[in-house]
Amino acid sequence: MTQPMIDLRTTPYGGRSIFAIQPIAQGIHILACETPFAHVIYKDYRREVCAQCFAYAASASRNIGDPRTWSIRSCRAASESVWFCTDECKIAWESGMIGPLIADTNALLAKAQIATRKKVKGRRLCHDSPDPILPNGPTATLQITQDHIDEAWTHAEDLASSPARLSSYCSAMDLEDMELETSRSVASAIVQRYVFDCRLADLAFSSKIATSDPWTEVLRLQNSELSNVRLRPYILVAHLRVYAFLCHSLPQHLRPYVPTIRNLLARDTGNAFGIWDGDSRDEMLGWGVWVGASYFNHSCCPNVKKTRVGRTMQFTTSRSVETGEELCISYIDINQTITQRRQELEDSWFFTCQCQRCQSEDADEACLH
Ligand SMILES: [Zn+2]
Ligand SMILES: [Zn+2]
Repeated sequence: MTQPMIDLRTTPYGGRSIFAIQPIAQGIHILACETPFAHVIYKDYRREVCAQCFAYAASASRNIGDPRTWSIRSCRAASESVWFCTDECKIAWESGMIGPLIADTNALLAKAQIATRKKVKGRRLCHDSPDPILPNGPTATLQITQDHIDEAWTHAEDLASSPARLSSYCSAMDLEDMELETSRSVASAIVQRYVFDCRLADLAFSSKIATSDPWTEVLRLQNSELSNVRLRPYILVAHLRVYAFLCHSLPQHLRPYVPTIRNLLARDTGNAFGIWDGDSRDEMLGWGVWVGASYFNHSCCPNVKKTRVGRTMQFTTSRSVETGEELCISYIDINQTITQRRQELEDSWFFTCQCQRCQSEDADEACLH
């Protein structure tokens, strides 16, 4: 049996992180995360991105110069239509439980958004008045604290607990496209959780031992709710609106998972990776959370490269690594200056990079002055 190459350890600076426990040569596959736990492909790209392997039609046809959409389609009665690059992808998707259930749920959410839009259209909207989902209107001038956020969530949960108030609130809301995309991403995670629980019930019935629960791992991912809302106060209202919309629109069998929505939203930013059209990163087609992928800390001189192959996120050493070395990927474009890199990391991942490269560039700066 081969020795394991990597180990997950807790660090004082970056939560859990992956370390090499033996020397690893360059170009070795060290981890593969098979499928995103939560994901969404943007509405505008749905005909152009294979629902199974995320292949982008326009990159496949780039050489012949005519952007196009995929033509193989699955349209089950209750589902949103989805498209595939090949018959194999269609068969793989249709034979699974998760993909079709996500498409069913997405169809419901799309219908619910359209229904509210029709109602709202005839009404004169006053965008200056605070969204009634907030307890006391905007708090933009204050430094937002965890108490503010908790209070806002309690208020929203209270509203959602009354079907009449929830329905009246949702029928007057005009859910924005990005809020719908976020709702779909959260719903995809809820579907996975639901399917896992159904399988667990089957396993318990046949008294087999259950496999490890990805949900526990999701909850162990870094929660960036406070940092995110402090930097972008509008995120709080958006998240509360997503919560109310999902409480109102999710099908009955997914309702028991409503209490997990806040946990998912708190972990979306900071753990999600963009789903790109390829290495050139010309277009971002959507985003996804691959649970194991979030264990990798960032470095501006990474020793691991991540590559998406279909739905799978693969991690390969980009140089040789010593025993005990931390294995890091880069979350950003490392060709930027230190100021740009740190800014981007602070904005999206809420930390100031202190990687070796940043430290040495900092020292060089200090020498110049
Ligand atoms: Zn495909
Ligand atoms: Zn750095």
